[in-house]
Amino acid sequence: MSMSLVTLLYLLASVCFIQALKGLSNPRTARFGNAFGMAGMLIAILTTIALIVRQATALGSGLAVGLGLLMGALVIGGAIGAFVAARVAMTRMPELVAAMHSLIGLAAVCIAYAVVSEPSAFGLAPAGREMPYGNRIELFIGTFVGAITFSGSVIAFGKLSGKYRFRLFQGAPVVYSGQHLINLLLAIAMIGFGAMFFFTQAWLPFIVMTIIAFALGVLIIIPIGGADMPVVVSMLNSYSGWAAAGIGFSLNNPMLIIAGSLVGSSGAILSYIMCRAMNRSFFSVILGGFGAQAGESAASGASEQRPVKAGSADDASFMLGNAESVVIVPGYGLAVARAQHALKELTDKLAGKGVDVKYAIHPVAGRMPGHMNVLLAEAEVPYDSVFEMEDINGEFGQVDVVLVLGANDVVNPAAKTDPKSPIAGMPIIDAYKARTVIVNKRSMAAGYAGLDNDLFYMDKTMMVFGDAKKVIEDMVKASS
Ligand code: NDP
Repeated sequence: MSMSLVTLLYLLASVCFIQALKGLSNPRTARFGNAFGMAGMLIAILTTIALIVRQATALGSGLAVGLGLLMGALVIGGAIGAFVAARVAMTRMPELVAAMHSLIGLAAVCIAYAVVSEPSAFGLAPAGREMPYGNRIELFIGTFVGAITFSGSVIAFGKLSGKYRFRLFQGAPVVYSGQHLINLLLAIAMIGFGAMFFFTQAWLPFIVMTIIAFALGVLIIIPIGGADMPVVVSMLNSYSGWAAAGIGFSLNNPMLIIAGSLVGSSGAILSYIMCRAMNRSFFSVILGGFGAQAGESAASGASEQRPVKAGSADDASFMLGNAESVVIVPGYGLAVARAQHALKELTDKLAGKGVDVKYAIHPVAGRMPGHMNVLLAEAEVPYDSVFEMEDINGEFGQVDVVLVLGANDVVNPAAKTDPKSPIAGMPIIDAYKARTVIVNKRSMAAGYAGLDNDLFYMDKTMMVFGDAKKVIEDMVKASS
């Protein structure tokens, strides 16, 4: 295979990746986007295999061993990936994504160590000679970004899964005095050792720099908690892309540079969009500490003992059937209950009775970007009845009934009314402005940010307790 054909195929794969990103930006075209992404990845992998075969043949040795190792890694890695992806529940996707990011970071570190130990094997310098200075910078950056991505993603994985008792894996931020100063000093030390590696190409500063980067990854993520985790997931996504791009420069592999830059920049744009959606500055998220009180109240399970109005699924069904306009606000609980198909059935029934039904989506509802859109698309809810928060918020004053299903933080008025609230300033879905509010959840427990929610105690609010799927199915029965 000639080098110009390799370049052409890599270019084709890159175009597919760009089309994939374009397609994934809209639910209507998301399937095409996925198909493009898979096609691009297939082209990139096959081309890389062909390239390795060509290089090994030119060297006249190592082809069988190299190909055997490559195929073995592809089969084992592919099998583990397929097994995990087939079993993972939709609500567990963010943890899986964080785990995948950690592997990308670790892969970048491993490749960098291989390059530093034998630069000639990667064509960076003749055997026994030192690497050019440019390559040392690329390796230094690729390694520290990869190491931070790895350890940061492991902590994010633990925090998102919420299954582990280990303190650092708790959702609540871990804060201590002098935290930012310590992080800053470590970052300076890391860069200092990187500079020593740059001048000497010695192992010791390179290893110390990597260890500090691993520690920094942990220290940067532990103070972040509460509702800021979505930004962390997309930020680590971005880091993993930059780590791959950095290593792409070292390996002189244009495919890795392009794919890494696409992941890096799209992750950065997504982080920016999420920050804007939550009215948070990127730096305040990175510096962390947000949600400290939230985590504490969630951990203690404390929620205020105030009276609430509770009703049954039958009551809710009656109110919905008599409304002219209904807005559904889905949240994480709807995804947990896998109640989207029952919901579609309910809204079809309401539409049949002449009720105007719309869905309002908060950008960080659920546990991953676009979670609610994916859920509703799965149930074939028509796209034209699904509205983003900023497009529907102005209408709530005229809405008869808002049905909040397994959502909590995204409809918490404290974000607007309580400047001391950890979520102060975060835009919310203005459900509290509707004439009547029906909230379905299993208990009075807090949501992800660990906060009590005044919406549940309002005079116009009726709580319907129970699992979302069961409650909605009961509403469907009652409306027949
Ligand atoms: P929340 O986590 O605020 O609330 C979900 C509510 O669903 C809970 O209060 C819970 O109450 C209820 N619930 C759970 N299971 C069920 C069930 N089976 N049936 C009915 N209700 C159920 O979710 P929101 O969607 O409102 O907000 C998302 C939160 O997650 C935000 O804080 C966001 O920042 C954060 N986040 C978002 C990510 C993203 O990318 N979108 C990623 C990581 C975090 P109860 O236990 O009483 O049933």
